[in-house]
Amino acid sequence: MTAIEDLLALHMVDKQTRGIRSRVENAQLYLDAQERQLAELDAERSDLEHRSKLAQATVANLETEAGSVDERTNKLREELKNSSTTKQYNAILEEINNLKESKGQLDDRALSELEAAEGLTAKIAGVEERIAERTKVRDAARIELDERTAEVADQLSVLEAERALKASVVSEETLAIFDQAADDFDGDSMAPLEEIDRRRLEYACSCCNFSLPFNLVNTIMADGNVVEVCQECLRILYATEELRGALVKK
Ligand SMILES: [Zn+2]
Repeated sequence: MTAIEDLLALHMVDKQTRGIRSRVENAQLYLDAQERQLAELDAERSDLEHRSKLAQATVANLETEAGSVDERTNKLREELKNSSTTKQYNAILEEINNLKESKGQLDDRALSELEAAEGLTAKIAGVEERIAERTKVRDAARIELDERTAEVADQLSVLEAERALKASVVSEETLAIFDQAADDFDGDSMAPLEEIDRRRLEYACSCCNFSLPFNLVNTIMADGNVVEVCQECLRILYATEELRGALVKK
């Protein structure tokens, strides 16, 4: 076998391995996306719960304050009954009126804080509903991933062994070029030469359409052990049997 034939054999197994692995990877990506969305929802819930606690604490403080205003007002009412002079009576009455006003303000604030707290409670319930739904989707995604992983495990171990075998006959340097191109192009590491115009000696990389100098094409055609890459996409170039045959007939 020539170096190019070895590489084409490796390429075939490599593509199969990648295809099967991508089914598991897609399931993993889907699961990761669900986990991310759940984490976002959790953060949203924590934030809402924190704000809700603050609002409830504010309501409690305002109620305490309102309670002490009431207490003071009741005390003043007693004093009002027992007041001995008009001046004293008027002064107490004025204070009672002032306290009434403060109490009204406190009640208004407490009411609006209470409404805010209720709004937050409703929002928390909404987020919790979304968390429950997303959790179901996440759990299903987890099962799907486990199933796919189990499904392809045997196939994958056979293919990986085969890939390792095919790779073992390829030189380290060439394997590095092959792996890089395979990673860059989702397994499409080998580029057949494409004849654009035979009489004008025009050839290109069929993967990226980059024009190739004829002396490079000639070298590749002449010797199946020559490993050259497309200068544009860095895939490994090769001449198909069809192309070689056509040239022989010429
Ligand atoms: Zn190319």
